[in-house]
Amino acid sequence: MKDGEEEAYIRAMTGEFAAQLHVRMPEVRFVNSSAPCGYDPLFNRIELGHAILGLPSSIVRVIVAHEVGHAMQRKALLREMVTHGLGKGLIVAVPWLLYAWMPHQKAWDIVIPVAAFVVAYGLYVSSAPARESNHGVALQVEADRSAALLCGSEPTLRALETLSTCTRIRPERLEALRARVAHEQHPVDASQKPGGDNCGY
Ligand SMILES: [Zn+2]
Repeated sequence: MKDGEEEAYIRAMTGEFAAQLHVRMPEVRFVNSSAPCGYDPLFNRIELGHAILGLPSSIVRVIVAHEVGHAMQRKALLREMVTHGLGKGLIVAVPWLLYAWMPHQKAWDIVIPVAAFVVAYGLYVSSAPARESNHGVALQVEADRSAALLCGSEPTLRALETLSTCTRIRPERLEALRARVAHEQHPVDASQKPGGDNCGY
């Protein structure tokens, strides 16, 4: 397939998946970027690197399905974007406002609140990556669940395992999919496991 044909094929696939998930079809944009793919909640847009065009179609399907899964999370992603943006904005705005509002106060009146602010800022910065990555994983796993619904759990797992050899895939995502596949193959075994053999004490 030529690149143009494959792009049209991917757009049609996106429309199909969006209809199946009852979500508004995201715009699809092909970009010259090293990042293989991503979803932009602001514009409801999937961005795919041109590298994706060379991949086997079984993997492309899973990638596209995963990104359409993110389109289902658009509100949550937007909310996260806004809170994060507001947080950053406040960090810049607070010292500035302090100086703007208290230009004639004694130095300590400014230094103490600013020092308190710097400490709070430090705490915010050090805790932000942890919070964000946790949320990130939950949303990734959820998008994988959508991909599993659209492409099947096993093909989704196989695609992610293949991708994990050349790009970073969070281990939690693979674990969640393996658990899903195991549950589908042996629903009783899988559901009994936590309370079964491990409960000898
Ligand atoms: Zn994702």
